[in-house]
Amino acid sequence: MACSFEKLVLYLDKQLDIDGQLEVLNHIDECDVCQDAVYQIRRDRDSNLFIRRPYKLEKIPVD
Ligand SMILES: [Zn+2]
Repeated sequence: MACSFEKLVLYLDKQLDIDGQLEVLNHIDECDVCQDAVYQIRRDRDSNLFIRRPYKLEKIPVD
């Protein structure tokens, strides 16, 4: 299959049938981009379980 962000989300939401899941799993196996996307979606969702800290950009000190 081609890269499909939509399918990754459906997969994580457990909205796909077995064939769909296998398709996504096989694709993730050989696609770094989608592997990364799944990781990031999961991380984003996990962080929603915790109290959100105020998002703050900290400047990296440069000498
Ligand atoms: Zn992909």
